[in-house]
Amino acid sequence: MNNAARVMDTPDERGRFGNFGGRFVPEALVPACLELESAFREAWADEEFVEEFQSVLRQFGGRPTPITPLRRLSKQLGLNIFAKREDLAHTGSHKINNVVGQTLLTKRMGKTRVIAETGAGQHGVATATAAARLGLSCTVFMGEVDTVRQELNVFRMELLGARVVSVTSGSKTLKDAVNEAMREWVTCVSDTHYCLGSVMGPHPFPWMVREFQSVIGNEAARQMRELAVGVPDFVVACVGGGSNAAGIFAGFADSSARLVGVEAAGGAAVRSGSPGVLHGMRSLLLQDEFGQIEEAHSISAGLDYPGIGPEHAHLAEVGRAEYYAIGDEDVIGALKLLSESEGIIPALETAHAIAWIAREAGGLLPKDATVLVNLSGRGDKDVAQVRAMLSPS
Ligand SMILES: *Cc1c(COP(=O)(O)O)cnc(C)c1O
Repeated sequence: MNNAARVMDTPDERGRFGNFGGRFVPEALVPACLELESAFREAWADEEFVEEFQSVLRQFGGRPTPITPLRRLSKQLGLNIFAKREDLAHTGSHKINNVVGQTLLTKRMGKTRVIAETGAGQHGVATATAAARLGLSCTVFMGEVDTVRQELNVFRMELLGARVVSVTSGSKTLKDAVNEAMREWVTCVSDTHYCLGSVMGPHPFPWMVREFQSVIGNEAARQMRELAVGVPDFVVACVGGGSNAAGIFAGFADSSARLVGVEAAGGAAVRSGSPGVLHGMRSLLLQDEFGQIEEAHSISAGLDYPGIGPEHAHLAEVGRAEYYAIGDEDVIGALKLLSESEGIIPALETAHAIAWIAREAGGLLPKDATVLVNLSGRGDKDVAQVRAMLSPS
């Protein structure tokens, strides 16, 4: 290591990563954000807290997750591909890392209740899971449209003891669920923590969530050394809000690896967005000429967000990470490709990263390049949707 400043460092005192981030919240929420910031800062510097976080992830969360060399796919594409298996974490994705961290912090702050937003339901289910484990009461805000599309996840959350509130404002989807959760938080900060699901929102959330998810990248860097592969040429991850990407990038930010984020073409905030403020942060957003937020559209609900975490906007601006978009039409093929070549059915979100690797093999990815891909989640949740798309009646 040299003495240069770390690439993915702590944001400045205003919570900014370069020109992005910050804390754009109503005055009533400022004390809650400040309380959270100092609680997280203290906890993260406390060895006992960090040990407890790691121990819950080991005993309950399914960590460490393995790295699988994708030999057949590598041969087919002329690459050397390794997969970090977050699909094998408890509840089927990387989301458990963040919610374990935030629920432990909730207890440390002496609070008894968590609230969360959810789109497809994955973050809601993970939050309800961690809340049950730690004995916290849990309320999840979900757009009405999503409660209908994802009724099985509503039932899962209820099985886990959570209450699901259907949000009927705006477009009745994820963006509105975030608004509603923030509105609720203002009224009950004394006993309630808002467990945000990605590296977005006001400071300290983007930083805190990245730190909790950095367990992915730190583990992967160690495992790649143990496999005698070392630093890969490319680290690739799909990007919705950007938490699984930030988590794996964190382990390689100071290395020579090229970092690649893959957005859904219908939610490509870096490729098609412009700077603006949403959900308490300044970042790149899909918006019209009047600053009205545009709806994101993707076959994968987890990438259906009209913005991106502020640290990604910064990494894109300074050129440390690159972002590309994959259209819906390439996603099912990639899901089948990984399923048939490796025996792993990925989530539709994750399939975007696979689709990019397949598309760029021999293009941006030179022959025999070493590629580490973050398999953010498993595809069980998506099989009914995939079946309907493959055999439309
Ligand atoms: C939620 C989710 C994503 C998108 O969220 P990020 O914060 O961008 O990681 C990606 N993959 C899976 C499997 C998810 O559940």
